[in-house]
Amino acid sequence: MNVVVLGGGVAGISSAIALKKKGFNVTVYERHESETNIGAGIVVWPNAAYILDKLGVLNEIKAVSGYPSSMQRISSEGDSLGSINIKSINKIMGYPSLSILRKDFQNILIKKLKTLGVSVKYGHTVSKLETNKYNKVQVHFTNGIDITADIVIGADGRMTSLAREYVNGENIPVYQGFINWIGVFESDTKVFKEIEVKDYWGTGERFGIVPVSENKAYWAGGIASKNTNERNPENYKTELKSIFSSWSNTIEKVITETPVEKINKIYVHDHNPIEKWHKNNLIVIGDASHAPLPTSGQGACQALEDAWYLAECLIKNNTNIENAFVKFTELRYEKTKSIIFAGRNLASTLFNPDAEFCRIRNENSKKTDYSMVSVSMAEFWGQNMQLEFSPN
Ligand SMILES: Cc1cc2nc3c(=O)[nH]c(=O)nc-3n(C[C@H](O)[C@H](O)[C@H](O)COP(=O)(O)OP(=O)(O)OC[C@H]3O[C@@H](n4cnc5c(N)ncnc54)[C@H](O)[C@@H]3O)c2cc1C
Repeated sequence: MNVVVLGGGVAGISSAIALKKKGFNVTVYERHESETNIGAGIVVWPNAAYILDKLGVLNEIKAVSGYPSSMQRISSEGDSLGSINIKSINKIMGYPSLSILRKDFQNILIKKLKTLGVSVKYGHTVSKLETNKYNKVQVHFTNGIDITADIVIGADGRMTSLAREYVNGENIPVYQGFINWIGVFESDTKVFKEIEVKDYWGTGERFGIVPVSENKAYWAGGIASKNTNERNPENYKTELKSIFSSWSNTIEKVITETPVEKINKIYVHDHNPIEKWHKNNLIVIGDASHAPLPTSGQGACQALEDAWYLAECLIKNNTNIENAFVKFTELRYEKTKSIIFAGRNLASTLFNPDAEFCRIRNENSKKTDYSMVSVSMAEFWGQNMQLEFSPN
């Protein structure tokens, strides 16, 4: 069967790997002219490590990743607000959690795809999707090329997915009222004694640092903001320093020493859950079908899960694409919807600008039994996984 994948991000590349490994003939079309990397880094949680194992890239990913042991919550004044033990999540789920730079992550996936004999067709921007006389989707690109296939996978992301629009009609991402500046910090000296995620909470403000090694980390500084369009890289460091410099020496250091070209400013949007994921022979996956906030920690992880489970559903129902799509949607919808709402819930407490609300939030965090939080996170993220529960 011929499969066309629209979009060469995490969902598109990983689904192409999964499908090619199962014998499908796959082509990926991407609008950018060459490989690009959005974002700074990601935590590959155990549910995603499990999928990377299935895709045959886990060892390569591990080789360039950090193994975070905990996620510490700290007030902007430096008080401990509690700590999530990541090692216990790993133990319950049977796979490691890994912190990795986005460029390393994407490069490993693309390299794997190449070794399977599939190359990405860059410089192909989808301009229109329409239904042809055979009730299949006809894909039009801005360069004049028109194609169709047995199966079309819409993996064209969060903000302007034409695939989502084709399937669902409604296609408007929701601005969730906060900005993230994200960056990658590298130093010649050892800065991080332990690979521990530090999550600092202020009033309507938050700064997170995720070490990848003893001298490398990615970070995100966020604030509540009604503004949605001001972006001037010359001002990024001044903006960040005016908010976060007084919080901790490490924050001051990572902001100061991150080159401005490695900082990005994002007005953070998600998308309301959509129930309809397929029409004719097209199915949407990844952010095109469920785009959670970064506060969910699961966007890329869920894109990976989609890739694997879609390939599984297609192989088990290969004479009936419609059936495979229905089974896939049934398997994935509730979990991804819950993750969208979990991301919104956390964001609404982190970016609440009310000082009294944030004081009570911090007090509650201090009283939280974080050992139970680890168990709930493992149970939530482990849903639908056929884990082997290996002892590492
Ligand atoms: C600030 C921020 C931080 C994040 N941090 C994390 C994190 O720590 N952990 C995590 O798991 N997730 C994180 N995420 C979420 C994660 O980045 C996404 O969920 C993930 O990238 C989704 O993959 P995707 O392939 O669906 O979309 P994308 O990675 O966006 O890929 C979509 C691809 O489609 C292409 N495309 C779009 N339109 C067209 C078109 N018309 N024609 C051809 N190609 C097209 C794009 O160029 C792109 O390459 C974060 C997101 C944000 C915004």
